[in-house]
Amino acid sequence: MLNTKMAKLFGGIVCIIVLLSVYGVDGQPTNCPEPECTWNYFMPSTWPTVCGGKYSLCGDGGHQSPIDIDTSLVETSLELASSPLHIHYEEVHHTMVVNLGTTIHVDIGANNTVYGGPLGKSDKLYLNQLHFHAPGEHQINSVPSSAEVHLVHQSLTTGKRAVVVVRVMTGTANPWFTNIFTVRDLPVGANATIDINPLQLFPLSILDNPYHLQHSNYYYYNGSLTTPPCTEGISWMILIDPIFASVSQIQDLQRWEGINNRPIQSYNGTVYRPHFSIVTPTNEGEDIRHMGMVIGLSFLLGLAAFFAIIAIAIIALLIRDSHDKRDFYGAQQFELQPTNY
Ligand SMILES: [Zn+2]
Repeated sequence: MLNTKMAKLFGGIVCIIVLLSVYGVDGQPTNCPEPECTWNYFMPSTWPTVCGGKYSLCGDGGHQSPIDIDTSLVETSLELASSPLHIHYEEVHHTMVVNLGTTIHVDIGANNTVYGGPLGKSDKLYLNQLHFHAPGEHQINSVPSSAEVHLVHQSLTTGKRAVVVVRVMTGTANPWFTNIFTVRDLPVGANATIDINPLQLFPLSILDNPYHLQHSNYYYYNGSLTTPPCTEGISWMILIDPIFASVSQIQDLQRWEGINNRPIQSYNGTVYRPHFSIVTPTNEGEDIRHMGMVIGLSFLLGLAAFFAIIAIAIIALLIRDSHDKRDFYGAQQFELQPTNY
């Protein structure tokens, strides 16, 4: 990073010298390259004003991220629970890891998608990349995590973006990070390739029982990118259960990419959580088919019982009618018989 700054400084000096010499010859300005627009984590308060106010949303926005989630204010949502969040991830091979200087960025690409939940069922969002923040950016009841993994998704049709957050707490060593750290000496701007399975990042509570995620186990809110340009309209889904990594793994991450957490932003919106349900459905389609069969059978049984009652009533009437007739004629004959003798 130091070499890059020296190169920029040298370039600027050369440009000034050339500019002066050009003005000295004919008085006309020359075309110097625009100074590169930069921001850093040392002074995030300057983000709205750097680069001529290009990132003003970082200061003016009403739905900025990250936030501190006060669980007493979280609204449970039946709607979220009725529309399960579907996460389909699989292993990707020879994918690119880049050290951006501000974070470690891992390309993911096709075949890894998320839909449902707050994102709706009609549009699949593709997992473009994942990256790290250490310490973690979001807090729950003012408790930060040691790190966060941001899995960044985007729709190919609408451009809608969503970030799934996996919170990392200090604990036992995590083999998933060991895999990433095989390329941890990557210098700024350089890249390498690795094989990676983003699903193995998830907490065991979700891997063991995916329905746990659908019914209770994430927070959702509408926020922003946590880096300039701080674009809003980003769907955030923060997994409540954390994963764990060792102290040395967290330290390695911080050494690798530097401290890169944006401070907590004030937030006036609402944070939601799927309404908790103790019922674990076996399969949505099967449930609906099963319910249809039960309703159909009940209807047929009801219909059969109705016709049986009608049939019994008719038979009873016929029997009574024939009995009455037999009595009538029998009585008549009996009464007439004495007069014949
Ligand atoms: Zn991020």
